Amino acid sequence: MTQNINPMFDLVAQLKAADIAYYKYDDPVITDREYDILLDKLRDMELQTGIILSGSPTQKVSGEVLESLTQVRHTKPMLSAQKTKSMEEIARFIGGRPAIASWKLDGLTLVLRYAGGKFVQALTRGGDGGMTGEDVTHTAKVMINVPLTIPYTKPFEVRGEGVISWANFERINGCLDENEAPYTHPRSLAAGSVRRLDATKTRDQYLEFFAFDLVTDDEQYASKAAQLDMLAENGFTVVPYRYLKLGTDKEEIDRCLSAFEPQKFGYPTDGLIIEYDDIAFGRSLGATGHHENRLIALKWEDELHETTFLGLEVATTRTGMVSLTGKFEDVVIDGTTVNRAYLHNLDVMDKFRLGVGDKVKIYKANQIIPQLAENVTQSGTLSYPTKCPCCGSYLVIRTSINGTRLLFCENPICSAKMVRRFVHFCSKTRMDIPDLSEKRLEIMVGKGWIKNFGDLYKLEECREAFVATPGFGDKLFERINGTINNRRSCTMAQFIAGIGIPMVGRSAGRILHNYFKGNWEAFEQAIRDGFDFTQLQDFGQTMHNNIHTWYRDTEEEKLWYPALNQITFIKEKENKNMNTNNPFNGKTVVATGKLTNYTRDGIQTKLVSLGAKPASAVSKNTDYLIVGESAGSKLDKARSLGVTTLSEDEFEDMLLKAGVA
Ligand SMILES: [Zn+2]
Repeated sequence: MTQNINPMFDLVAQLKAADIAYYKYDDPVITDREYDILLDKLRDMELQTGIILSGSPTQKVSGEVLESLTQVRHTKPMLSAQKTKSMEEIARFIGGRPAIASWKLDGLTLVLRYAGGKFVQALTRGGDGGMTGEDVTHTAKVMINVPLTIPYTKPFEVRGEGVISWANFERINGCLDENEAPYTHPRSLAAGSVRRLDATKTRDQYLEFFAFDLVTDDEQYASKAAQLDMLAENGFTVVPYRYLKLGTDKEEIDRCLSAFEPQKFGYPTDGLIIEYDDIAFGRSLGATGHHENRLIALKWEDELHETTFLGLEVATTRTGMVSLTGKFEDVVIDGTTVNRAYLHNLDVMDKFRLGVGDKVKIYKANQIIPQLAENVTQSGTLSYPTKCPCCGSYLVIRTSINGTRLLFCENPICSAKMVRRFVHFCSKTRMDIPDLSEKRLEIMVGKGWIKNFGDLYKLEECREAFVATPGFGDKLFERINGTINNRRSCTMAQFIAGIGIPMVGRSAGRILHNYFKGNWEAFEQAIRDGFDFTQLQDFGQTMHNNIHTWYRDTEEEKLWYPALNQITFIKEKENKNMNTNNPFNGKTVVATGKLTNYTRDGIQTKLVSLGAKPASAVSKNTDYLIVGESAGSKLDKARSLGVTTLSEDEFEDMLLKAGVA
């Protein structure tokens, strides 16, 4: 199938993801250098092709805020396609002529206008029989992949669909503000994003535009395939399509169309569009009522499957909102076993008048998401959950801004805080359990599977529920459990950095590890004996107090203590690699600026392995300051105190001479 995805689009998407990780989450995914290389590559491509996409970081498109949307008249009425579920009808329509089959994307249809090689206006399909639409130029400009500058200079219009991928839909739904009900489908999210008055809010929503129709006549492009090629050449992401050159055999057409597998496609779709390749022929067929006769839509049949309702699965999300999922006896739909469907809110739950044991009908919406279609028996005996599965607090009902009723846990230290603690504990630089992403941890905390750090190592106990949860499954369980088992041995430094004592991070963890020789009991004993932590390098009074307060906090203890029964500390690890016969052994060394061969952590580890005491601030006790690119105040201070400074090269040379490089 022709994908026709513009390579520039991948680059723009990659840079955008990097920007968001950097600016919004302060958690860079690529280095500055890698970013610059990608940006240069994009600039080159923009120059070569004459195409600039809306999401390009080379452009500074400001997000406009409008008072209201203006109505604009379409040049041609926006008619729709006749819909059918019958393959016979599709075969009859094709009638042996060459045709193009493409996804019928499920988003918001848009018309983009261009003149003189520039994007000028975007309109929605709108109401009143497709005669007028709303001007949404401001939000189209902040979509990822709308070409703002193109090589084709004649005025023209292009139709396409504004969509949000399933992946981005889940991501966005996962980080909504409080009082925002989760979106039920990417379509409603896309429509809401496009029609938003404040374009700055649309910017992060990853709206994408898939072009499917060149509205303006140009004899140069007499076939649909040529039109789509022209659009791709001008930087549009064209809807993936297949060229059909078939007879009238229904089976053959069926086989050909079954290559479109919505379950494997990353975007929401509700069928296929079949259109004659010969534009003049298609147009000669005219239109009937609201339909254009040049094309036809194949809608997939929603097969209903009857099963028995078993009850609710309740989970608290990051915002405190409690999500409800209906559980039912296994049904096999399209080869996959389905036993859960998300009930979006209390109104949906009310509508179905559910009760355990009810006969219900399930289908897969867009052949992807299992949905409840009907409750045949309607016993209505099921009541709302009353307690938070995560913390046990009583739940309250709130009405969201879009008027739906949702359940909330109002305990401020419930799920959200716990999720953050787990994210911290599992992060790469702490216990390093990479598959436990924030989203997964949120579900695991919300369902009450993990209540303390020790529970992570007992995942086996919730295997059944884990495997049955959509998006989790057998493979993931094995992978995560495998990683966790591998992490049962860790250093005391990792563990201290992971448990989240306020202000005690990785470098403090390493210092404590070295001081107590990786012996946790010795660390605890020291606290009980009133140890003065300020005597350690870089430990101030606040850190000293924090450690003592943390240790006395019985709520905190419930979180970290159970993990001690599950893990073993590698006590001698750092000593084994240690080579003390070098000029840095026993010396206090600070590193500053950007180093070429080491990350910030890497240099610390290196120094520890040399027997040096890495420190973060320059003082008169500092023996060496290693200076990287764009070093700042530390260098000035070292100079004023007469501390020896070393470039990274000089540092490496000294190691080389000592034979420890
Ligand atoms: Zn709670």
